Amino acid sequence: MLLTRERLAALADAGLCHVQISFQGNEPAVADRVAGLKNAHEKKIEVARWTRELELPLTVNAVMHRQNLHQLADIVQMAVDLDADRLEVANVQYYGWALKNRAALMPTLEQIEETSRIVEEAAVRLKGILAIDYVVPDYYALRPKKCMGGWGRQFFNISPAGKVLPCHAAESITGLEFESVRSNHSIAWIWQNSEAFNRYRGTGWMKEPCRSCEFREIDFGGCRCQAFALTGDAGNTDPACTLSPMHEQLFKQAELEAASENTRFVYRNFAGGTLETGDNHGA
Ligand code: SF4
Repeated sequence: MLLTRERLAALADAGLCHVQISFQGNEPAVADRVAGLKNAHEKKIEVARWTRELELPLTVNAVMHRQNLHQLADIVQMAVDLDADRLEVANVQYYGWALKNRAALMPTLEQIEETSRIVEEAAVRLKGILAIDYVVPDYYALRPKKCMGGWGRQFFNISPAGKVLPCHAAESITGLEFESVRSNHSIAWIWQNSEAFNRYRGTGWMKEPCRSCEFREIDFGGCRCQAFALTGDAGNTDPACTLSPMHEQLFKQAELEAASENTRFVYRNFAGGTLETGDNHGA
């Protein structure tokens, strides 16, 4: 909310080459409720317009779940209207605060089927106008995604505090120390030598069933953060995989949650979360 057009222009002058904005719906009633912040949607629309005025490529990241999937077709149109280059239909990943809100967010199988239909139709209709990325959500897939292209293989990001991370959510894994850009080490050293980047790089760290699995160099065991969040050990097979001994139990629980009438959110704060109040909770 601190971004101004002048700051965005200064970032573009400094070499910023792409902007991605996450939207929680296609209009304020749903989007501001999910964000827990009044006028959040309006501000994002404004930033999207500045982005295109400054001739920066724009990706609309549509964060989808049970309580906004009915807006997907309108979100596709919103991305076109904003002159976005790319739309990422990003089903919520259930770690961090999304895991605490899983019962309120988990989509139904019918919603996932409808999502696939909308995405397929839009991808054909908007070919050459809007590129659309879509991945089936973990809880409805047979194999996990190749998270971040594999830990420490293709990607790093730098957190606002200066930590160099193998993925945005890596700090959710307790017990791992991430080096800072303010340390005496270069980013190249951190990438090649730091303990955190090497811990789950490649396949040597794997336990069974990943260790002897024919897919181990295809998906690299899935997502370390999800494995940690759901099993307590980031070295376990991502339970999104049907070969994980925890998959069945997890899937059944998610199915029950998708059918539940729990629609109230727990909003993130330093006090451990606040339960949504009032009648405006999508029930
Ligand atoms: S067992 Fe491991 S390597 Fe094999 S498919 Fe599942 S997550 Fe991938």
